[in-house]
Amino acid sequence: MAQYDVIIIGGGPGGYVCAIRCAQLGLKTACVEGRETLGGTCLNVGCIPSKALLHASHMLHEAEHNFARMGLKGKSPSVDWKQMLAFKQETIDGNTKGIEFLFKKNKVDWLKGWGSIPEPGKVRVGDETHDARQIVIATGSEPSSLPGVEVDEKVVVTSTGALELGKVPKSLVVIGAGVIGLELGSVYQRLGAQVTVVEYLDAITPGMDAEVQKTFQRILKKQGLGFVMGAAVQKTEVKRGKATVTYKLRKDDSEHTLEADTVLVATGRRPYTEGLGLDALGIEMTRQGQIAVGADWQTSVKGIYAIGDAVPGPMLAHKAEDEGMAVAEQVAGRHGHVNYGVIPGVIYTAPEVANVGETEQGLKDAGRAYKVGKFNFMGNGRAKAALAADGFVKILADKETDRILGAHIIGPAAGELIHEICVAMEFGASAEDLALTCHAHPTFSEAVREAALACGDGPIHS
Ligand code: FAD
Repeated sequence: MAQYDVIIIGGGPGGYVCAIRCAQLGLKTACVEGRETLGGTCLNVGCIPSKALLHASHMLHEAEHNFARMGLKGKSPSVDWKQMLAFKQETIDGNTKGIEFLFKKNKVDWLKGWGSIPEPGKVRVGDETHDARQIVIATGSEPSSLPGVEVDEKVVVTSTGALELGKVPKSLVVIGAGVIGLELGSVYQRLGAQVTVVEYLDAITPGMDAEVQKTFQRILKKQGLGFVMGAAVQKTEVKRGKATVTYKLRKDDSEHTLEADTVLVATGRRPYTEGLGLDALGIEMTRQGQIAVGADWQTSVKGIYAIGDAVPGPMLAHKAEDEGMAVAEQVAGRHGHVNYGVIPGVIYTAPEVANVGETEQGLKDAGRAYKVGKFNFMGNGRAKAALAADGFVKILADKETDRILGAHIIGPAAGELIHEICVAMEFGASAEDLALTCHAHPTFSEAVREAALACGDGPIHS
């Protein structure tokens, strides 16, 4: 039995980052992970593999749709699915092994196996019980399904199954027009599948800026994705390897069916806390099944903290990482901080979609006076040269003070551009501060500056 300052349960972005920072702060640290590899959902079956497939399929899309226009002619590539899966696995392996290396470098012990907390200050892994002055739960989340929809991970799959299908399906129905559904839907559409997205609400990507939602759906439709909106899925049935999806349209309650080779259920994720023994410990949970935590990420039991997808907040890897670093500071007796007002969200389709801070709707609901600065990528020289001029940057700023309150971008490299705004927001910058900052030409970033200019006297190139 070993004695640790801190044991973290879960080796995903929340847990492994927390473990590395704890060790860097001089604490004797262990991280418990039950999977064969470190990195959690994100590195094994989430962010990283999905981005590998998005990247590869985007290359194919560019070759098929834009190469000839740019004067690049010749034999167009065809899909070797096995090789694409191998590329995805190589990407995963490179990343998960990287975390193992970082654990060794920082002297974090990886306790292999599934952990539980028999009592405060103790973590059980297999037959061994370890002492820990403090415990951090970072056990993440798992896909959730719908009543009437039985997942077999072959024909009816979650994102996990969708990342390793035996072949590219001819037809795919995606249930849920959220980030994961649209990213993976895009992958298979680019690889040749006929993709139909069935969504309960009337707009895709719930919670996003309404203008972005409309532009995004228009672009995805143009790319070939089909949408059935306002549709409540009733059930899925699988016969002879084919699926039937039954849904009811909310507007008139009429019932319809769709047939598909594969159905991807992308209706969200739920916290994963099974087997930890939280009930017996008396740890308070929220109504949504998340672990309830205070402002210092401590649960209702002293000395036990929780972070990442297992606690309230956006289910994003970087939110988990930030909490991981902040909790390490807390555990080391310092002060940890996460600014929940400045957590970017990105959808890695083409074009990318990114947002941070307030939406117009949120500001209206709060009765806050604001102004909008918007700039279309059509006026951006670099975007035109890259055949990627669809989309816009929209900055929301306080009407009186000009302080930036939020931003919404759809367009090339949106997932990178958003960080300029995040930094500006962290510094409490005004739109004018951004507008007065020299931006290199020609860059996509100039569109951000132009949107900032649009909050004042107006942009130059529109
Ligand atoms: P996880 O990453 O879920 O890690 C938890 C780990 O704990 C797991 O490895 C699990 O095996 C382990 N564990 C659980 N219980 C125990 C136990 N009792 N003992 C030992 N180990 C245990 N987010 C983004 O920010 N960007 C993206 O592009 C993105 N893309 C995604 C794509 C897909 C397809 C999916 C499914 C998710 C995506 N996410 C993305 C979300 C992101 O993966 C999660 O928000 C993130 O992984 C949460 O990190 P975490 O550390 O809280 O939990």
